[in-house]
Amino acid sequence: MLRIMADGEVAKALKCVIERVAAATQARNSDIASLCLQPRLVAVSKTKPKEMIIEAYAAGQRHFGENYVQELVEKAHDKEILECCPDIKWHMIGHLQSNKVKKVVDIPNIYCVETVDTLKLATTINTAVSKQSNNKKLKIFVQVNTSGEENKSGIHPDTVNDLVTHVQKNCPSLQLLGLMTIGAFDHDLSTGPNPDFQTLLKCRAAVCEFQCLEPKDVELSMGMSNDFEHAISVGSTNVRVGSTIFGARNYK
Ligand SMILES: *Cc1c(COP(=O)(O)O)cnc(C)c1O
Repeated sequence: MLRIMADGEVAKALKCVIERVAAATQARNSDIASLCLQPRLVAVSKTKPKEMIIEAYAAGQRHFGENYVQELVEKAHDKEILECCPDIKWHMIGHLQSNKVKKVVDIPNIYCVETVDTLKLATTINTAVSKQSNNKKLKIFVQVNTSGEENKSGIHPDTVNDLVTHVQKNCPSLQLLGLMTIGAFDHDLSTGPNPDFQTLLKCRAAVCEFQCLEPKDVELSMGMSNDFEHAISVGSTNVRVGSTIFGARNYK
């Protein structure tokens, strides 16, 4: 049975997550704190009804993430969402196929695509963005497969610089925000820091050295419901939290 959260539950859960983000941010050591003032909270609303998005927006949330192109397109074009959430900022956080790029680029209020993991995809997005009339760049993250699991999307850590170089050199309509990872879901924190996050940190160090960038100019999107506080403690600037805000997902 589908469990719908009662009125106000989303706002309450959101408030709690915002407080936990603030506490984790406050507790960072000074090295990490100097790289990022305030991590961004992306509320991951995949599979959840628009009423929940509208409630979270009314409670102050602005950044929302979706995984599936069709669902993102439908929600972003929804009349009520457009009306109630004029300043919403959409993040595409799921795997993106080249033939669906135009749909995503055309979305009203698209903020960024977090899942750029091939040169071809970067080129396709760049071309689609460059054809738009508004002359705006689209923000992207390069997604890294830090866990080495073959079924996961993301570019291999060793080739991150090739993709970043391609974006910087050949994709003038894209603005690189940083690197993103999903990582293994089952890391036991009692055994030490999440190695996926450590790998992403190493990738950033390599990118900074190779591209002559400062670490504070290369964001890290990492951390979900079960590990966002740990992710913030090691330097995440963008956490993607779904079920802790919106409740467990029911997949049909
Ligand atoms: C679903 C999803 C999330 C949120 O997961 P929760 O565990 O529900 O917080 C974050 N990032 C990506 C890429 C996802 O697909």
